Amino acid sequence: MRIAIDGPAGAGKSTVARAVAGALGFTYLDTGAMYRAVALAALRGHPEPAAAQIGLGGRVTLDGEDVTAAIRAPEVSERASVVAAQPAVRRALVTKQQALMRSGDWVAEGRDIGTVVAPDAELKVFLVASPAERARRRAAQLGADPAIVELEQAVRDQRDAARADSPLRAADDAVEVDTTGLPVDEVVARIVALVGTS
Ligand code: C5P
Repeated sequence: MRIAIDGPAGAGKSTVARAVAGALGFTYLDTGAMYRAVALAALRGHPEPAAAQIGLGGRVTLDGEDVTAAIRAPEVSERASVVAAQPAVRRALVTKQQALMRSGDWVAEGRDIGTVVAPDAELKVFLVASPAERARRRAAQLGADPAIVELEQAVRDQRDAARADSPLRAADDAVEVDTTGLPVDEVVARIVALVGTS
């Protein structure tokens, strides 16, 4: 079974997707980490960033080096949304994601899981939250100023939603869940309950 969880930055996708995967015994796939790893490779001057070896699992590796922390830096976030607009990068990563998800049970999170990577996923969830709440959560994680995070987030959201190739949008049959003011446990319980009905 495949569960697709999409939505903008800071809507709670990673926390929720990881918890849903844990609750159901499914494998968690963080596709944003793949775009981030390609962005880091590009920032480091890799000759062909999309062809770099990316390892996922507990830690994220780039050509064998542990980059779990490095890919969360603000300049990598910024660059990720730039490389993610390049069709060749998307093709390479979507192919890898589809190969991974070909067998087994998955909770995959990203921007285009329900629309492009796994349009036939059994359950599609689109997580949203108010921009201010999304920025507050990210700022708390990063130890940064919420006002600055909100500004950077708006630029990234706009880039993700406006790109020609696989823009961020909910699949027609996705269930929208607004996480503003909701505790994580409650969001996870709602999604797990949806699995029973899908
Ligand atoms: O989810 P996360 O913030 O880690 O993703 C980083 C960037 O990667 C996003 O801003 C987006 O541009 C890109 N991305 C994407 N498609 C995905 C996952 C992430 O375009 N499936």
